[in-house]
Amino acid sequence: MSRPQQITVLGATGSIGLSTLDVIARHPERYQVFALSGFTRLSELFALCVRHVPQFAVVPEAAAARGLQDDLRAAGLPTRVLVGEEGLCQVAAAPEVDAVMAAIVGAAGLRPTLAAVEAGKKILLANKEALVMSGALFMQAVRKSGSVLLPIDSEHNAIFQCMPQDFARGLSSVGVRRILLTASGGPFRQTPMSELAHVSPDQACAHPNWSMGRKISVDSASMMNKGLELIEACWLFDAKPSQVEVVIHPQSVIHSLVDYVDGSVLAQLGNPDMRTPIANALAWPERIDSGVAPLDLFAVARLDFEAPDEERFPCLRLARQAAEAGDSAPAMLNAANEVAVAAFLDGRVRYLEIASIIEEVLSLEPVVALADLDAVFTADAKARALAEQWLKRHDR
Ligand code: NAD
Ligand code: MG
Repeated sequence: MSRPQQITVLGATGSIGLSTLDVIARHPERYQVFALSGFTRLSELFALCVRHVPQFAVVPEAAAARGLQDDLRAAGLPTRVLVGEEGLCQVAAAPEVDAVMAAIVGAAGLRPTLAAVEAGKKILLANKEALVMSGALFMQAVRKSGSVLLPIDSEHNAIFQCMPQDFARGLSSVGVRRILLTASGGPFRQTPMSELAHVSPDQACAHPNWSMGRKISVDSASMMNKGLELIEACWLFDAKPSQVEVVIHPQSVIHSLVDYVDGSVLAQLGNPDMRTPIANALAWPERIDSGVAPLDLFAVARLDFEAPDEERFPCLRLARQAAEAGDSAPAMLNAANEVAVAAFLDGRVRYLEIASIIEEVLSLEPVVALADLDAVFTADAKARALAEQWLKRHDR
């Protein structure tokens, strides 16, 4: 076999980053870690450097970089520490790199992910917010560089696996009628509506099937995650929002389905463990062991489905509206959501206010075309400012 592929893991200290490193460590003959990044929990980043011996580590600021560099040197490691967004873009685009795992959470992941796209890397895309914010520009950059874009989000990875290889010809050309995007319904699927006003961040983060970072866990509770995924699916598979139907499937065993014109519906099933989509994308078009246990259908016993209730999950309605409006609407939705979720996690807003904040932001700012990345970040900043105004007005 040829030399191991060099992998950069952006967001290595997070849930997806750690799962990625778990899969990589199972296949040292195939993969080598080129660079790791972390934003907080830098002692964990140090431990990951000891374990994987990357050429580079990236941290947010200079003082932290000096501290980590000293520790690495004392441990006899050759790893060099880089700083900030510039460092992230550098390790994403470095000529030695074959594939980049984009697993930074939120808008902060956009520039480094785009740097990897522009350098023509294989992109393992977990950072859905990047695509939601800048879908048209992002996909244009993918086409221009010839970058291979592989979805990590379990639903999109499932859809990718159920699609014919030439799906880029257009869904109708390959006989696809609909995408069925599954959702667990999160921890509040059956919580009495009267209790939703008082749920805590810890309750929101207690996902029944998946263990994830706190931001995406809150998004799963509100179903904004499914809304972001609806937009993500439209970009990845060139679908119209009306071609993507959300189906609640509480067991999280079917990770999504593709409905063909002849009536065939293909699904991908598996245990809810992100190492499956990660291994699928890392090795694509081959298959490798991910460490995930075989699916035990007798233990699963049954698969249930229900329609989502948009009164219970107003964020899903807001996301669908933004998907249909297009242009700057998804970037504004995403930014308002990031501010609202951070405030909820800080105990500054209540759970139900997340949707109120987003709805207000979207109603105040007209939708505009996004000609370039500056326009994306301008829309993002406007939405953040409006969401902050909401917080100030409510004295938070
Ligand atoms: P996480 O919070 O566990 O990890 C986030 C990572 O990003 C950490 O390494 C953190 O240090 C880094 N980070 C945070 N803020 C940063 C900033 N401003 N600049 C640079 N780095 C920063 O999150 P996660 O659950 O691993 O999710 C990561 C991404 O993957 C998200 O976009 C999420 O939507 C997506 N995703 C996650 C899952 C999952 O199962 N966890 C599933 C599908 C998609
Ligand atoms: Mg998902």
